[in-house]
Amino acid sequence: MIYETFSPQQTGQIGEELARQAVPGQVFCLYGDLGVGKTVFTQGFARGLEITDPISSPTFTIIQTYEEGRMPFYHFDVYRIGDPEEMDEIGLDDYIYGEGVCLIEWANLIREMLPSQVTAIRIEKNVEKGFDYRRITIEEEEA
Ligand code: ADP
Ligand code: MG
Repeated sequence: MIYETFSPQQTGQIGEELARQAVPGQVFCLYGDLGVGKTVFTQGFARGLEITDPISSPTFTIIQTYEEGRMPFYHFDVYRIGDPEEMDEIGLDDYIYGEGVCLIEWANLIREMLPSQVTAIRIEKNVEKGFDYRRITIEEEEA
């Protein structure tokens, strides 16, 4: 599925719609450069899980959990991870095989640690189409 958005609100809306169909155990991998809109997408995704707490970027904590929505939400930002093996110390598998959904910003950095079947979300800019333009591709990924 390919979407085009022209504002942060539209990107959030796509995240929100995706989350409404999410089921426990699903793993969502977010790919895209710094500042492309991964956290904006995640904020919408959290709304779709009926989470009202503000979503911040967990860059310094790697993982932030939210228990108040219709299922637990595990939001990762692994940008600062030094080595994929560090995810073992965080207890990655407890989240992956937990009762909620995982969404991982910068998932490419730890892809080998994740299940082979995930939902991939790619966000890309295209400056020719404007500063606020984003192309969002969502597809099942098999590593
Ligand atoms: P990332 O998490 O990928 O590093 P953020 O979500 O934190 O990026 O930031 C994205 C920035 O881009 C925000 O400042 C947001 O307002 C801006 N932006 C502009 N247009 C869009 C769009 N169409 N979709 C998402 N974000 C957009
Ligand atoms: Mg971010």
